[in-house]
Amino acid sequence: MFTLGVVDYAEHVIDLVGNTPLVKLNALTEGLEPLVLAKVEYFNPGGSVKDRIALRMVEAAEASGALRPGGTIVEPTSGNTGVGLAMVAQRKGYRCVFVCPDKVSEDKRNVLKAYGAEVVVCPTAVPPDHPESYYRVSDRLVEEIEDAWKPNQYANQENPASHYHSTGPELWRQTEGRITHFVAGVGTGGTISGTGRYLKDVSEGRVRIVGADPEGSVYSGGTGRPYLVEGVGEDFWPDTYDREVADEIIPISDADSFTLTRRLAMEEGLLVGGSCGMAVGAALELAQRCGPEDVIVVLLPDGGRGYLGKVFNDNWMSSYGFLSPDSSGATVGDVL
Ligand code: PMP
Repeated sequence: MFTLGVVDYAEHVIDLVGNTPLVKLNALTEGLEPLVLAKVEYFNPGGSVKDRIALRMVEAAEASGALRPGGTIVEPTSGNTGVGLAMVAQRKGYRCVFVCPDKVSEDKRNVLKAYGAEVVVCPTAVPPDHPESYYRVSDRLVEEIEDAWKPNQYANQENPASHYHSTGPELWRQTEGRITHFVAGVGTGGTISGTGRYLKDVSEGRVRIVGADPEGSVYSGGTGRPYLVEGVGEDFWPDTYDREVADEIIPISDADSFTLTRRLAMEEGLLVGGSCGMAVGAALELAQRCGPEDVIVVLLPDGGRGYLGKVFNDNWMSSYGFLSPDSSGATVGDVL
């Protein structure tokens, strides 16, 4: 008789959220003593760390009754959180309506539509309290649409909780408790607050938690001055950021963030987004002060394909003066 072996598959793609790998940084850490490991979040099925919060926010809203069967998820987002929510909504049969300002590229909007989400575009050039601003429009849609629910990633405590229950325990297990420092960029603050709190609890305060922030953002003492790196830094203090977790916040310039983002692709084979270069900048600065026994883990939130027209585009980089000879790599002209 012929017996089939066990067929190895996931029931649905959302079952693959989390359990992302750690990869050692090699070229970028040359001459530095500690082991520096990257937690590569583009291995999540929606391509970013935000899959984790999307899944937990939706499941908590189902459990509390805030999101009912057949309901609609409404959120002002254009990026990674939208992708995570759209993917989870597909599995669970919810409608998604995302609201974004018109400065968001058509490519990004099309990704959300590809998952079946609806996208409402609002003018960028209006103040936040204007009736057409994307904050106001999303509030109005929540009132107008029957059974609508707004996750509100900037206030929802399930955002940091998702990291407390997934990212943190994964890192402790993957490093067998040897992690000494955790570095992450700060946007909503969910990643650093949840992961950091778990690592502090489990290590009884031994693990040091270090935030990376774009120069000018509030977390490193600024007022929200414009910077170009996306997904991190704020001009206000979100409820999802726990001010007691980070031991230190390191500000990183746009120029350093983007230079390192390119080096991650060219020298480590990691095609990642601009906030990853920023987090690595902070990790390398920290590594200079650490010893051979230290194990630094830096979280890389997303992949680089969404940024081909920006960080990885020589013209865009040059227009801001970010292109230095050692960051540009081979240009088309060099290769031909
Ligand atoms: N990088 C990118 C690309 C992001 O989208 C986000 C989320 N806003 C972050 C970093 C920061 O993560 P968090 O919101 O958990 O602080």
